[in-house]
Amino acid sequence: MALVLQGMALVSERSCMQFRPYRVGDPDYLHVLYNLTGCWSMVGRQGGGQVVSLQRNGCFKPAVVAHEMLHVAGFYHQHSAVDRDDFVQINFTNVKPGRLLHFKSLMFKIDIAGGLSKF
Ligand SMILES: [Zn+2]
Repeated sequence: MALVLQGMALVSERSCMQFRPYRVGDPDYLHVLYNLTGCWSMVGRQGGGQVVSLQRNGCFKPAVVAHEMLHVAGFYHQHSAVDRDDFVQINFTNVKPGRLLHFKSLMFKIDIAGGLSKF
């Protein structure tokens, strides 16, 4: 638990995001589970009890917790940003089989009106 709080603190100290314990009646909250496989969260608010998976072996590091909290806040990986090819070159031959999906470029852009649209 202390490492989870340390990970949340990493985010809070560097952003406007704040975390607090669940209060009865909160419509949306994080449901941190330790018994699932992997370190992951859906991106952005999902509504209700949003699962954040922090597998006991491997995810109990403040930086990993912070990473998942940023996903909760709506951040995608920078290596999948639509403009990432302007800055880096992905050597796909070095990507493990089954992991290519993680390097797929997001095909969305935000238009002037603020809506999402596909390229
Ligand atoms: Zn991630």
